[in-house]
Amino acid sequence: MNAPNSGNETVAIVGSGLTGLLAAQGLKLNGITAVVFEREESLDARSREWTILVHWAMPIFAKLVPKHILANLSEALCNPHLDFNDEVESLPCYNGITGDLLFSSSTPGARRVNRRQLRRLLAQGIDIRWNKSVRELLQTGSGVRLEFEDGGTFDADHILGADGSSSKVREMLLGVEQAQPRQSGFLFATGVTKFGDADKTNAVVQAHPVAALMMGASTVGAVGVMSVDDPNDTSTWTTFWVKIWHGDPVDLKGQEALNYIKENTAPLRGIFQSAIDWTPDGSYVSINEMKYWVPTPWNNYGGRVTLAGDAAHPMLVYRGQGFQHSITDVDNYVNALIQVRSSSSDATSREMIIGAYDSEMVERGATAVQQSLIEAENSLDLEKVKKMLMMRQGHSKSA
Ligand SMILES: Cc1cc2nc3c(=O)[nH]c(=O)nc-3n(C[C@H](O)[C@H](O)[C@H](O)COP(=O)(O)OP(=O)(O)OC[C@H]3O[C@@H](n4cnc5c(N)ncnc54)[C@H](O)[C@@H]3O)c2cc1C
Repeated sequence: MNAPNSGNETVAIVGSGLTGLLAAQGLKLNGITAVVFEREESLDARSREWTILVHWAMPIFAKLVPKHILANLSEALCNPHLDFNDEVESLPCYNGITGDLLFSSSTPGARRVNRRQLRRLLAQGIDIRWNKSVRELLQTGSGVRLEFEDGGTFDADHILGADGSSSKVREMLLGVEQAQPRQSGFLFATGVTKFGDADKTNAVVQAHPVAALMMGASTVGAVGVMSVDDPNDTSTWTTFWVKIWHGDPVDLKGQEALNYIKENTAPLRGIFQSAIDWTPDGSYVSINEMKYWVPTPWNNYGGRVTLAGDAAHPMLVYRGQGFQHSITDVDNYVNALIQVRSSSSDATSREMIIGAYDSEMVERGATAVQQSLIEAENSLDLEKVKKMLMMRQGHSKSA
């Protein structure tokens, strides 16, 4: 057990994903003590990786991290060597039936980051306790307590559940049944491919130097650049592909996943299919069903426990909104705790301030989750693609 922290609010953050680490940075920047508890043993514990477009929330992100992290953001970019201009900062979507360009979503100032690298950057200077799987949370006389699977405990003034789509903290706030993430019926497959062949990589880059989409047939596709070793030699670059369809739930990896895609899903066109066909042996490939959960109000323990990021509003990947909302949550949470501090941690004010944080997030998160489900439904039929927010208003904020 830790000693109580007098005179300063201590926040125990559950989860060292992007939300938890960004929250720790934002709190630290504002003089609030944050300790992150992560069930895994290190940043590299998982093989699964993906890329994330940081777009409308980039200016908010920039406020939450110290200058040196922002200055080193290029370390986390998929391709930091690009000459960023309007064309590079847009996301083209091709017609899944004709192969022609359907529309291009403009994302000014956006950057595609490698999640692993961004976590590495955001972990700098943060107190992270590894191998700490949260089992229980309790209210104490003066605050809240986390209990871990290893028998240890930690006392804090606040707990922020940033423990992802199957959040244990959410489960403790709402009960197992109500907190259960829902299966969407949409399957998400991805492959991380280092072709070692400039012509193959160039074909991906030609679709777009960052990433491109294909929609409107019964499967959705994406290709893009994940990382660049030598900027002058595309044979050294690592690329990724994505395929989405509506179907039976499966959870597969590696060659089995690749075989399943080839045997059970309709082919895409052009490079979107070739990238899958060219997947080298031993590449990372996975398929799983996308989950979601529409947020509803929870008991926040007198304003001491709340959620952020995927723990609060896990959504489908469409229009890349998940992390934008995580960043928004973190900004609002940091501001809320600054308000709690200036109210001298008065119990009524605490309850009101964190209650307001919760209400705003539940409403915004619920809208975003529902929009992601409708986007998914509309993406598999050319007529319906025209109704998509992505086609009508691009990647902009809509919740
Ligand atoms: C393929 C893909 C592409 C995406 N693209 C985009 C995009 O372009 N733009 C965008 O905005 N968003 C995108 N997203 C969404 C974005 O990745 C997530 O919203 C974001 O990473 C949120 O992360 P998180 O920290 O909330 O959760 P997570 O990354 O899931 O982190 C949760 C952490 O909590 C830990 N944890 C879980 N349970 C416990 C426990 N009991 N005790 C201790 N620790 C625990 C986990 O080990 C994990 O480290 C994408 C998502 C995917 C899957």
